[in-house]
Amino acid sequence: MLQAAVLLLNQNFEPLTILKVRRAITLLILNKVELIENEDGGYIHSIHVTYPMPSVIRLKYFVRVQRKEISMTKKNVIKRDRHQCQYCGKKKKVMTTDHIVPKSLGGDDSWENLVCACLECNNRKGARALKEAGMSLIKKPKKPHYFTFIINELEEYKEKWRPFLFQL
Ligand SMILES: [Zn+2]
Repeated sequence: MLQAAVLLLNQNFEPLTILKVRRAITLLILNKVELIENEDGGYIHSIHVTYPMPSVIRLKYFVRVQRKEISMTKKNVIKRDRHQCQYCGKKKKVMTTDHIVPKSLGGDDSWENLVCACLECNNRKGARALKEAGMSLIKKPKKPHYFTFIINELEEYKEKWRPFLFQL
């Protein structure tokens, strides 16, 4: 239970990172964070106090975070799209990246023009534009927010976190 994940928000409610419950409880005890959402019915017992099991906590002070840009690589495009083919929606182990607008038609290497695609869809589309190939995307690709990458590492995130992740 102490391994469960807790979402840490900055003072301005921007998601910062994901912590283990143990660390979250320490921050609560040190009064550095406030409890925003707790897990339904879960409690943590220490010798002196009982805490509701935290799900979302927020820093009481604002931290300025210097973030590294996520580099535009094939690996990161696939990671952004969570290994899901952006044409047929299937999730497979082996994935390729596809230029939405083919290079031969002037398409560039950008977050907006590259998507994760399965081999079949990639072959089916070939060097054609979307319309020409009669294919469509399941969502419009964009540059990923750094936190998307943290979230994508998790199998699934908690329902209680959803309201705080809308801006990603
Ligand atoms: Zn596909």
